[in-house]
Amino acid sequence: MSELSRERSRELYRRACELLPAGVDSPVRAFRSVHGEPLFIAKGRGAYLEDVDGNRFLDCCGSWGPLILGHGHPAVLEAVHRAADAGLTFGAPSPLEIDLAERVKAAYPDAAMMRFVSSGTEAVMSAVRLARGFTGRDIVVKFSGCYHGHSDALLVAGGSGLATFGTSSSAGVTAGAVADTAVVPLDDENVLQDLFQERGCEIAAVIIEPLPANAGLLRQRPEFLRVVRELTEEYDALLILDEVISGFRVGMGGAAALYELPADLVTFGKIIGGGLPVGAFGGRREIMERVAPLGDVYQAGTLAGNPVAMAAGAATLQVLMEEDVYSRLEKLGRRLEEGVAAAVREAGGSFVRVGSIFWLVFQPQAPRSFEAIDASGMPRFADLHAALLERGVYLAPSGYEVGFLNHAMTESDIDTLTNVLRESLAALPG
Ligand code: PMP
Repeated sequence: MSELSRERSRELYRRACELLPAGVDSPVRAFRSVHGEPLFIAKGRGAYLEDVDGNRFLDCCGSWGPLILGHGHPAVLEAVHRAADAGLTFGAPSPLEIDLAERVKAAYPDAAMMRFVSSGTEAVMSAVRLARGFTGRDIVVKFSGCYHGHSDALLVAGGSGLATFGTSSSAGVTAGAVADTAVVPLDDENVLQDLFQERGCEIAAVIIEPLPANAGLLRQRPEFLRVVRELTEEYDALLILDEVISGFRVGMGGAAALYELPADLVTFGKIIGGGLPVGAFGGRREIMERVAPLGDVYQAGTLAGNPVAMAAGAATLQVLMEEDVYSRLEKLGRRLEEGVAAAVREAGGSFVRVGSIFWLVFQPQAPRSFEAIDASGMPRFADLHAALLERGVYLAPSGYEVGFLNHAMTESDIDTLTNVLRESLAALPG
């Protein structure tokens, strides 16, 4: 094994740090939780990334989720080129919005109507505003360990194991902005029940990642999700399923179908943009009809429904529908899981997987809540990350992030990944 050549990445990082905070446009890209510095990427093709120094990596980050088909799928590229030739943006309706909306609705009947935006953050921010407008109530309940983007109301800290209100998790977010956001732990029906008993009539919505994938992969008990649905129904609060990661990732119907969980509102991002900036929120017609200009909940966007992004999303969903992507990804995932299970166990860790999403955590029991994650394992993850990178595997640079398999990967890629993981685990310092 040879040291990666990093000369060009180092030089670009030095220049980037003069211009961009920590040299990046999104914090976790900065490699602060692992060893070394960010690599600058020159291109992505199929299952592989190539950095500016010519190093090639099997890409298990997949741009944090959108790239379920891998890089540069021919059908997606062709759709993008065709749309771009016709015009990059119109600021007026185009047929491509209807095409993508029809595809999303066919997979998610709960999204009878939707609106496209340009990021997951915007989708969630708008859904929360809509839930408050529709119900005429103020409180939004979120779960610690679930991430819903960086709109002010959702940058809220929790973590005591009880319901907490109103402590922001970022400077610059006023106490007022988070005063009406409650944070409760995952996997604990009692705390949620108590909160509903006390404040149920003030609760506009509960928002949850039905398959929480932003603090590792915190697979929930179906009974817990059922209680979340039942309580929201009982108190006439809305249930917002945040499927920005899980949507079109764990199946065409996302986690909503996987857990048979009906949503009042659902938020999307990542895969529905096929690698371009897209988000969407959708839901029952009577709720969505409150969105401006039909209704009184304001929401807008200069580049919303951008034709090139719509085309990339529609082409991606078309491939997902036509090819046997999910069962193939499940097979690849199972092959990986079976290949690494013993080595992970021996290293004192757990390998958690749902379809093509996986997480390796250094604790013997897979956690189901943020509070149950053993942070003391994270330095070992940093060592593992460095060992994988040296051996040609690119994983998201934080132990709290999940990995993604994609449709461009072959069985042979999975076997390489398996061997590299085993070798890297064995090479970890005691
Ligand atoms: N919700 C979830 C579940 C997410 O995973 C993310 C991003 N990782 C967001 C919302 C925010 O999306 P974006 O980064 O596109 O703003």
